[in-house]
Amino acid sequence: MVDYVFPPLAIPTLPVVGSTAVFPVHRIYCVGRNFADHAIEMGHDPNKEPPFFFQKNPDTLVPSGSTMPYPSATKDVHHEIEMVVALKSGGTDIPVSEALDHVFGYAVGLDLTRRDLQADLKKLGRPWEVAKAFENAAPCSALVPASVTGHPSAGRIFLKVNGAVKQDGDLNQMIWKVPEMIATLSTLFRLAPGDLIFAGTPAGVGPVARGDRLEGEVAGVGTLDITVA
Ligand code: MN
Repeated sequence: MVDYVFPPLAIPTLPVVGSTAVFPVHRIYCVGRNFADHAIEMGHDPNKEPPFFFQKNPDTLVPSGSTMPYPSATKDVHHEIEMVVALKSGGTDIPVSEALDHVFGYAVGLDLTRRDLQADLKKLGRPWEVAKAFENAAPCSALVPASVTGHPSAGRIFLKVNGAVKQDGDLNQMIWKVPEMIATLSTLFRLAPGDLIFAGTPAGVGPVARGDRLEGEVAGVGTLDITVA
């Protein structure tokens, strides 16, 4: 038994569909510009710049059904609807052919972004944490186990804001497929049970206002419902 100088904070968790047990979250990785049409809307050429990774803090997860406060220090929070891949095991240098063996399941997430701060950071060549890893930046649905849903590689992914569809794509548009993103990520980090990967967003990202209701869905995976106070 470890003698902590103060009680450690609780491990962030996600509910699991069909289970009373919860999924303990270790790290949150995100894939940037994994849909060509989103890379283009952000002013980049997907043929010249491959997708890349950044991270969010695990304690910024927000469960579906929540009302969350409008984030601080920004006037331009953007929604990015994404499929989330949850790992049950990890390692380094994982081959593409074995990558899906490490997947526990899938969820629907929002990669909330302080776009105004991100634009400043890009101009200055600074890291993205304050644009991506802030409080409540990672709303996420319950996980559905891969034993139930399989490994979705195609299917509609969309987001409605106050009932109007704002983002609408298909998982088959992902530049890095799930096995490829796991394999690539495992060359950069030692992946572990409990890691989440936000797999990138289709085009149509845009601002979130106070009072907005955000309803996302990934076909075969689930739905996410968040209200901004
Ligand atoms: Mn994103």
